[in-house]
Amino acid sequence: MIPYGRQDISEDDIRAVEAVLRSDFLTQGPAVPGFEDAIARRTGATHAVAVNSATSALHIACMALGVGPGDLLWTVPNTFVASANVGLYCGADVDFVDIDPDTYLMCPKALAEKLAQAAQAGRLPKVIIPVHYAGQTADMAAIGALARAHGVRVIEDASHSIGASYRGAAVGGCAHSDITVFSFHPVKIITTAEGGCATTNDAELARRMVLARSHGVTRDTAQMQNADDQGAWYYEQIALGYNYRMTDMQAALGLSQMARLDDFIARRHILARRYDLLLQDLPLVRPVQSPDSYSALHLYPVQVQDRARVFAALRTDGIGVNVHYIPVHTHPFWRAKGFDWGMFPVAEAFYHRAISLPLHSRLSEADQDQVVGALTRALTA
Ligand SMILES: *Cc1c(COP(=O)(O)O)cnc(C)c1O
Repeated sequence: MIPYGRQDISEDDIRAVEAVLRSDFLTQGPAVPGFEDAIARRTGATHAVAVNSATSALHIACMALGVGPGDLLWTVPNTFVASANVGLYCGADVDFVDIDPDTYLMCPKALAEKLAQAAQAGRLPKVIIPVHYAGQTADMAAIGALARAHGVRVIEDASHSIGASYRGAAVGGCAHSDITVFSFHPVKIITTAEGGCATTNDAELARRMVLARSHGVTRDTAQMQNADDQGAWYYEQIALGYNYRMTDMQAALGLSQMARLDDFIARRHILARRYDLLLQDLPLVRPVQSPDSYSALHLYPVQVQDRARVFAALRTDGIGVNVHYIPVHTHPFWRAKGFDWGMFPVAEAFYHRAISLPLHSRLSEADQDQVVGALTRALTA
């Protein structure tokens, strides 16, 4: 089976992890700050907080922004469930903004209308989470401006887009948001096995996220209430936090992978351009690339008629296609909260036709020809 995504691990990556295993620290050593520095340098953000998953990063981002009971969090339906779940972790209510039919990203027009209605009703969201679906950046200039105008905070879910840029600036620099979150799951652009990171330019948000990832405990005397005359053992819990720490083995892998980030994305672009050419005469909708955005190309989603049959034919032919995403609000858990089919029709229509073709840095041109051959047979049968 040709997988839709997979990790690309080098001998250097293996040696980096092995070096940690032979060192004094498997966790809470020097590798995590080293990886955080690399992410901060790459994104241009002043702070990077590495954690054990993007889900954890989204959670501590919401905590840092003070999301709590009575608050409202908005995201898109065309995402992984984690983007919505984190609102519930904080006790907030969650709602969705539909996507644009061409980019599959949060629709600024739908957001503007929903914000205007919410302002009138006196129930604006505290936070909105646009998702950089498939590696392409949402229209952050428009989304950021709308959010600012209504006093709403913004977290970018950039799980698909480490290494991408938007209007010439690296994603993660938070030019139009408070916090940006990345995922390093093996199918994403670079990997730490499990892992994630939050970036911000706000020192106070960074401080709160650092506390939240490690039990709310600090060893920084400046943050303590009773630091005077205490011994070197002393630490203080000053907030409620979790154990969301990244290990040094993971961070060493991530730092090693960062050295190849540009190569990974360049390879994805070569393969995507090749799909564009090879698929141009088939009856399907290819993904559009916005001129505003240099995509990390996490996914190559096409839209086809008769999706279920085409999907099954591809799987039978050994092509590990997948579907991104089942609209979050249509899962039984969310329907039990009052959501239903029909509420976000653009995301639903996209879902009914979407198939993600294999795309990753180790995909060969021969693999790709096999995918195109199988797709051609399925669509012309
Ligand atoms: C993968 C993903 C997540 C969750 O990432 P983890 O690192 O697995 O927690 C969140 N949002 C989106 C859009 C994702 O693709």
